[in-house]
Amino acid sequence: MIAWIRSLFAIRRDNPQLMRVQVQALSRHIPLLYFVLVTSTVALAATHTSSAPAELTWGVSGVLMAASILRLAFWWRSRNTVLTDEAAYRKLRSTTVVGAVLGIGFLSFAISLYAYGDEFSRGHVAFYISVTVIACLFCLSVLLPAALALMGVVVIPAAIFLTLTGNPVFIAMALNLVLVSIALTVVMLYNFTNLTRSVASLQALEQSNSEMADLSRDNNRLANLDSLTGLPNRRRFFAELDTAMAAYRQTGTPVIVGVVDLDGFKPINDLYGHAIGDRVLAEVGRRLSASASPAGVLARLGGDEFAYIVVGDRPTELALADANRICSVISAPYQIGELELQLSCSIGLAASEALEPGQSLIEYADYALYEAKNSARGTARLFSSELQGRLHRDSLIEQSLRSPEFTSQLDLEFQPIFDVLAGQPIGFEALARWTSPTLGVVSPDTFIVAAERCGMITKITDTLLARALETAKSWPDDMRLSFNLSTHDVASPQAVQRVIDRVRASGTDPGRIDFEITETAVMRDFDQSCASLLRLRALGCRIALDDFGAGYSSLSYVHRLPLDKIKVDRAFVREIELTPVASNIVRSILDLCRNLGLDCVIEGTENAGQIAHLTGMGCHLMQGYFIARPMTAEAIASYLSTYRAEPAPARPQAMPI
Ligand code: C2E
Ligand code: MG
Ligand code: MG
Repeated sequence: MIAWIRSLFAIRRDNPQLMRVQVQALSRHIPLLYFVLVTSTVALAATHTSSAPAELTWGVSGVLMAASILRLAFWWRSRNTVLTDEAAYRKLRSTTVVGAVLGIGFLSFAISLYAYGDEFSRGHVAFYISVTVIACLFCLSVLLPAALALMGVVVIPAAIFLTLTGNPVFIAMALNLVLVSIALTVVMLYNFTNLTRSVASLQALEQSNSEMADLSRDNNRLANLDSLTGLPNRRRFFAELDTAMAAYRQTGTPVIVGVVDLDGFKPINDLYGHAIGDRVLAEVGRRLSASASPAGVLARLGGDEFAYIVVGDRPTELALADANRICSVISAPYQIGELELQLSCSIGLAASEALEPGQSLIEYADYALYEAKNSARGTARLFSSELQGRLHRDSLIEQSLRSPEFTSQLDLEFQPIFDVLAGQPIGFEALARWTSPTLGVVSPDTFIVAAERCGMITKITDTLLARALETAKSWPDDMRLSFNLSTHDVASPQAVQRVIDRVRASGTDPGRIDFEITETAVMRDFDQSCASLLRLRALGCRIALDDFGAGYSSLSYVHRLPLDKIKVDRAFVREIELTPVASNIVRSILDLCRNLGLDCVIEGTENAGQIAHLTGMGCHLMQGYFIARPMTAEAIASYLSTYRAEPAPARPQAMPI
């Protein structure tokens, strides 16, 4: 109880927010308090001017009023000042003390006037004391210690004084004053408790608001960060790119974008698992951060793709040199635990100065990356006017691919696959041909890739497979058909089902069909591709790994894929007579095929020397211009008749071309 009463007289120094609210409320109430006090005092002095001595009426009251006006000015001046906790405390304490001192002063002044004047004047004194003190209590109600102090030094002495006059009216007034003051105290206590509570809930609200703000800041940060590498993510990258491009359009500040794609990351992930893959990616992120321009933004776009933005006057030749430096940094070996891993990266660069209206810098950079990957893996390529021309042509190709007449412009040629020991062709590879009325002859290397890009490939595969199967019907029963499948044909159960349906519908024996698939195609999604190839095999078809040696040539793929045949890329044949390395590679592939029980076809044999060399190495299945160029479906019958009519030639050199 005592502690509670003491707390009522204490200023809550432990609660700065409450003190500030009190100061704020007082700065509105106190000027009003002094206004009431000064005007009432003037009125009291005026009614006693003729009866009381001037030094009392105007002298004493003048001093008290001057002090009041000074306090009023002090409060008025500081009404908008932001106070420190300590200053707020001092202000509240001084208000309590000054309030009590001035209260005593004004009460003494009023009591001293009581001795002068008539009954009305004395009535005025009693009225002045009662009404003014109640007004002051009201104005100080937010500062309980000041109000209670005023009660102690003014209300109680005033009630005693009025009672001691012996006048029944004044005694009744004293009683009235005490009762009103008690009621006022109860109301003040109640209000003050409410005020303390609302300040506390305000504080709780502010606290939770600030926690919410922290949380939303964290969320925002996480939404813009890649958790694996700690780099900005795709979303943040594109936001930054938008900002940089907006600045470029407004101020002309150049922007260069680099798209970085890892070469050989997927085999690492497939072979050693995601945990190792993640550590490699984190290390790639660190290396890129260390070598990328500090003035730009570096982000992980997803998977094994990173990108960066360079803003400012960096000549494109230097940016290209920077990017090639990054490529060599990334291709240094990775030590992950016991493992030493190797990968490289290709970078596509595009500068805002090359940008044509309506085009996007990231598309240019992607295109340059695609070119880098195709022509010089592990290096950087800048989007140039030459690539601009190619991109333009690609978009024309894509438009043509979508036109309804496209499939009628498609055709097939067939290139024999030859067994040099038997001196007989064993089958034909179907090769797509397209002659566009506007673009002329477009190579399959170009339009197949474009069709994959624009999602037309499964339709093309379906059309071509139907035609190839139809053509193969007229061949001798032992003549095989090789047909190339693209990534998309094995990337989904639905796509491979279309291929299976087409084979079934043709009535051709599936055992005569070889489906060719490249390493790059299966690597996109190894597990799905594997499942698709198994389904084709279950149908009775055989699977050949095409262009072996041109991609990553990871032996693990050869072991894990359901294969029947390997086709060695023509790049080796070109070199075979020139370098022993190429010879050795072909020899090891032949050994590998022998050990795994796979057939081996050598692609791209262009002269008799190569054929002799390869035959000497024990290779007997071959394909190439020297044996026969791709031919039309109609030409096959006469080609076959040459062989079927004659006995097998003794030497491959004697083969008709
Ligand atoms: P590929 O499957 O490796 O086909 C062999 C390519 O090598 C063919 O090129 C063929 O004309 C060419 N070639 C054959 N012998 C020689 C030679 O002695 N020297 C040289 N320099 N080249 C030779 P083509 O017809 O331009 O086809 C290129 C690639 O396009 C094919 O490579 C294949 O990956 C793809 N392709 C062709 N037709 C189709 C198709 O119907 N579907 C799919 N998905 N891809 C196809
Ligand atoms: Mg092929
Ligand atoms: Mg090939």
